[in-house]
Amino acid sequence: MFAIHTLQVLKRTPARLPVRHYTQYLKEHAYINGAWVSAKDGNTFTVKNPATGEELGRVADLGVAETQDAIQKAYDAFYTWRDTSAKERCEILKKMFALMVQNQDDLAKLMTAEQGKPLAEAKGEIMYAASFYEWFAEEAKRTYGDVSPAMTGKRGITIRQPVGVAGMITPWNFPSGMITRKLGAALAAGCTAVIKPAEDTPYSALALAMIAEEAGLPAGCMNIVTSSRENTPAVGKVICESPLVAKMSFTGSTATGKILLKQAASTVKRVSMELGGNAPFLVFDSADVDTAVAGAVLAKFRNMGQTCVCANRILVQDGIYDEFSKKMAVAVEKFVVGNGMEAGVTQGPLINDKAVQKVENQVKDAVALGAKVLIGGKRHELGHSFFEPTVLADVPKEALACREETFGPMAPLIRFKTEEEAVAIANACNVGLAGYFCSNNISQIWRVAEKLEVGLVGVNESIISAETTPFGGVKETGMGREGGKYGIDEYLQYKYICFGNI
Ligand code: ADP
Repeated sequence: MFAIHTLQVLKRTPARLPVRHYTQYLKEHAYINGAWVSAKDGNTFTVKNPATGEELGRVADLGVAETQDAIQKAYDAFYTWRDTSAKERCEILKKMFALMVQNQDDLAKLMTAEQGKPLAEAKGEIMYAASFYEWFAEEAKRTYGDVSPAMTGKRGITIRQPVGVAGMITPWNFPSGMITRKLGAALAAGCTAVIKPAEDTPYSALALAMIAEEAGLPAGCMNIVTSSRENTPAVGKVICESPLVAKMSFTGSTATGKILLKQAASTVKRVSMELGGNAPFLVFDSADVDTAVAGAVLAKFRNMGQTCVCANRILVQDGIYDEFSKKMAVAVEKFVVGNGMEAGVTQGPLINDKAVQKVENQVKDAVALGAKVLIGGKRHELGHSFFEPTVLADVPKEALACREETFGPMAPLIRFKTEEEAVAIANACNVGLAGYFCSNNISQIWRVAEKLEVGLVGVNESIISAETTPFGGVKETGMGREGGKYGIDEYLQYKYICFGNI
């Protein structure tokens, strides 16, 4: 029985996926139980290209009934998938990895078309996303348990088993990476998944389903429920409240995370929450200014400032503040704003107008409180959802820009005098995901790294997330870790088996 299943999986797996034009990934159907499906009422919603405002296509707008169906199918598939060998799950995940790498260019174009990030960044995200399939393919084989010897006539055996169906709700800022970071771990552990991607970026999610299908992932293991902004709350509620869903993993805003946490409490689900951040970036007098400027620019403006690990508050010590702020403005002036598909563009549009309004508001508020605009400061002449890359100097810490996540291309600079003051400002917020600092003083590096109230710290480094390390935050940023050797734990539970009378 088992051998036959293995053979069936391997037989329908092609060696290579035909290379497609990215428009061939514009699927208008959702993906349930290995089939491409429409909404029962035939409704669809529009997906737009944020750089041009043009309609890219329409996607099935599923609701409660279809979500329940997807959950049931994932639940049925779980009983087969959990019994496959770790090696078999590893092989399929490795194929998913290989197919993503092979199709990197077109998957990246698709992402730029619906999300807006420059093509080079989109290509980087496809590789980042694929790396979780590769990593968890390897981890699938390492879900060890143990034997406890300290009992007379008995032995305690602890094994780790997949939790069951995992519900996943993912954001638009990393439309591929935020799915594979969860899905790779879940599939490796032996769980099946129902994924609700963001309404702005469903195509990247559906492309991942095409890849999984072509890699031979059995029907029902990965289901994609696409839904519009209007239907999403009902779909999310079904996922959170269904007794057939054992685990809920969410990446998105703190406000939405709190709603989902309350809903998931009704069935006492395991939850992972990766919610908002408000990353401090501290630059101490001992830092190399050029390295610090380059790091701050990267940490702030990647993905047009729309990452949850983006530097949100840049705190610079008095002794180098003036030099740093001048050099930061010069570096930001070099950005090329435009459609991410065009060569040389370094800054694309924001995801939608709501995102632009938020940045605009924060700039106005900071200026009203005395901040100075060093560069940028307003909507870009390209229109749509473009905003000028902006640097504000002397932003008071009471400003909205320091209290709230910006999620846009605006860097507020704050001056400080002492290490204690900087750490106190950095920690004075209710969330804690990433924190960065630049210093060449070894004792200070240890002190500050340990004192920052965050889940990830970059010391003289701005690009810190990798498949090999744990990602997640403290305080209201949430709970759980994705990636690293810890990521698979989120989808496994311990079982203790007592062997007696031996
Ligand atoms: P943002 O404001 O940046 O779009 P959200 O937290 O609203 O962040 O979105 C992250 C994900 O959560 C998206 O997939 C979105 O569709 C989904 N979402 C938003 N509101 C709800 C909700 N009430 N229930 C379930 N999912 C939701």
